Amino acid sequence: MVELLASGGSFDMVKACADNGADAVYVGAYGWSRRRSMYEMNDDTIKKCADYLHGKGKKIRVAINTLPHSDEVGSFLDKVATFASYPIDDIILTDPGLMRVTKENFPEISIHASVGCTIVNYFDARFYREAGASQVVTECRMPLKCLGNLKKKAGVGVEVLVHATTCNTFLGRCTMSSYTKFDHAEDEHGKRHFEGSPNRGGLCYRICLTTWEVERPGWHREEGIVLRNRAYFIFDDIPDLIDAGVDTLKIQGREYSTSLVGSMVGLYRRVIDGYLENPAGFRIRPFRDRLEELKYVRDVERREKTSALISEAAN
Ligand code: SF4
Repeated sequence: MVELLASGGSFDMVKACADNGADAVYVGAYGWSRRRSMYEMNDDTIKKCADYLHGKGKKIRVAINTLPHSDEVGSFLDKVATFASYPIDDIILTDPGLMRVTKENFPEISIHASVGCTIVNYFDARFYREAGASQVVTECRMPLKCLGNLKKKAGVGVEVLVHATTCNTFLGRCTMSSYTKFDHAEDEHGKRHFEGSPNRGGLCYRICLTTWEVERPGWHREEGIVLRNRAYFIFDDIPDLIDAGVDTLKIQGREYSTSLVGSMVGLYRRVIDGYLENPAGFRIRPFRDRLEELKYVRDVERREKTSALISEAAN
């Protein structure tokens, strides 16, 4: 059965996701999850989320998907040990070395290769399976026909983002924000935070969404260039994704409002259940008006967040 996974940027959001029909919720460990700390959680809140979700028969997945230096591996393993004791169900990792050491030390936790791994073909997926992952998040633009193929050839579970913001370049490989924010600091646990690097405990400031001036040799200077970076909902393809054997449909959005995320989860739940109950008679059209309403709210929230981040990066 396909799993609906949603994001929890706070305990209330975790509750909203679970109560609106998510099968699993992912949360970010404070300092370790490629998001601003206000959307991450301390250990006690993660424990509270684990208890709440398990009480409802749902799963919790914890993102620890930054790329630690050797000096930080000790704190990484302490973190995983703490979460394993709660317990948690799955862990989201990017670094293949850490996947291996986690697999050896915590075989009871299943490892999911993060979207930050930039898995674009089945050789990548196989590589991460050999490192210890049982499921991989595929790159956002992977065509439908490649997904089933990847699952078969790599022998791993496949997770697809159905609501996300893509990147101008491959998600996980962008260094643009680190050119505007380059300070770094170490916290009390020895974890380093490089301000403009989501891979190293910092943040994406959505720098690609500023307007650019481009100069090319032999061309006139162009101004006001906006790079491509869509936020999207994959909607009409849900039945095809299910038929292709996708294991998890994932709704990103820890930074959105709790009410919006809860509504998104509710809509996807209805679409998935509607299709599974009656594949031959299922029609997506009746759900489209609701999607349009949610898109509008999402776009308003996204614009506000993006301009705040861009101004912050400029200061
Ligand atoms: S700056 Fe743009 S392309 Fe880079 S990580 Fe952020 S959203 Fe993605």
